[in-house]
Amino acid sequence: MILAQSASVSSSGSLPALFDLAIVGGGIVGLTLACALKDTGLKIALIEAKPRDAGLQFRRAYAITLMSGKIFAGLGIWDEILPQITTFQQISLADEHYPAVVRLQPEDLGTDELGYVGEHHVIVQALLNRLEGAESITWICPAEVQQADYQTDRVTLTLSIAGELQTVQTRLLVAADGSRSPLREAAGIQTQGWQYWQSCITAVIRPEKSHGNIAREHFWASGPFATLPLPENRCQIVLTAPHAEAEKWLEVEESEFLAELERRYDGQLGKIELLGDRFLFPVKLMQSDRYTLSRLALVGDAAHCCHPVGGQGMNLGIRDAAALAQVIKTAYQRGEDVGSLQVLRRYERWRKFENLMILGFTDFLDRFFSNTVLPIVLVRRLGLHVMGAIRPLRFLALKLMTGMSGKSPAVTLSHQAQSLEERKETEPLLPSPS
Ligand SMILES: Cc1cc2nc3c(=O)[nH]c(=O)nc-3n(C[C@H](O)[C@H](O)[C@H](O)COP(=O)(O)OP(=O)(O)OC[C@H]3O[C@@H](n4cnc5c(N)ncnc54)[C@H](O)[C@@H]3O)c2cc1C
Repeated sequence: MILAQSASVSSSGSLPALFDLAIVGGGIVGLTLACALKDTGLKIALIEAKPRDAGLQFRRAYAITLMSGKIFAGLGIWDEILPQITTFQQISLADEHYPAVVRLQPEDLGTDELGYVGEHHVIVQALLNRLEGAESITWICPAEVQQADYQTDRVTLTLSIAGELQTVQTRLLVAADGSRSPLREAAGIQTQGWQYWQSCITAVIRPEKSHGNIAREHFWASGPFATLPLPENRCQIVLTAPHAEAEKWLEVEESEFLAELERRYDGQLGKIELLGDRFLFPVKLMQSDRYTLSRLALVGDAAHCCHPVGGQGMNLGIRDAAALAQVIKTAYQRGEDVGSLQVLRRYERWRKFENLMILGFTDFLDRFFSNTVLPIVLVRRLGLHVMGAIRPLRFLALKLMTGMSGKSPAVTLSHQAQSLEERKETEPLLPSPS
């Protein structure tokens, strides 16, 4: 039986013979790509192993960059998301108990804010609402891809749908199927990278004192400790530590865990309450050797993964989706074959190097700030003073952290133009050196 649901599936439940595009993976990145392409005229299959609304139950919050906000605005979902998330105007960087704290402010970048924190279900719900009733999208879900056979002009996918095998064909296959990407592995694409010596614990807390809409990245010798402000004075924490220590923080009594958090906050947030469970995640860095083959493109975690310090992973994936959508749309309008390597390489050339920069940046932050060798400790503490004193340095760091470096996808342009227009009277775009 076929569980596909869409206006483009006939009443007999049969699937279209050939799709222009099949997106495998209905996580945030796959859904973003589908939203970006839904009005192009392309016939799109959206294939997801879990039930369509499974993402609404997943509990995690993300730092959302300014660039992701602009992409979501361009896709027409930002007005739904924005009232449900937190906007932060300050990023506070600190090194263990060292007193020099660098406070990054919007004026360092010439913007009104520095970023946002939103929950997974809020983003997924807005994307699903946007896709609701789209004639061009055929949901095939829950369905798992078992095999992909590449031919010259198409890919034949064998899907397991409710225990039965069914095939669909597509001109272009997009793997948005996460870091373990079965499609990437089956295609023989190699990856480079490593598993970190650390894991991270995530949890949602409510502090007694106001979180002040501040995103805190506190560097400890054991690893970075992020506190992301959420609505209703809740915070998502991401505590990174060597595996054994991270496991310990997962297993200890709640009171002991909270005492550790209060120790780390040094009284700044008052008593801490834990809301819900703690979760443990392994941390890895990975970059695929190629993002594309003929008829195949990788996006999001299927193409790359990074350390959660700086909250970049999902944001890179959203950018991949916007860039790939632009490349495909342009090629389609020109009458080119959207699955050809010639077309897909444009996406790879655009995104692979930009992602590598951010992967390197997160790796540098983790290694530099987790290092206990005295000369390095001294250099980085001096570095905090230098950064606090020199505005162009803060500007450069913020350009990277907010996703505002690199090439902007076209979907952001109308929104960008609008906000630039709003700001140009009051704020300079480039900071003057201080
Ligand atoms: C602790 C932690 C904190 C993080 N914090 C942040 C943050 O603050 N900001 C940020 O930007 N990023 C953050 N990240 C990274 C972020 O979670 C990921 O980069 C992002 O979720 C990747 O999304 P994706 O859609 O590419 O993959 P996924 O979310 O993994 O989605 C893949 C989808 O593919 C489906 N699938 C897989 N195989 C198949 C198949 N064979 N057939 C059909 N469907 C299939 C899966 O069911 C799944 O729904 C964090 C990560 C961790 C671990």
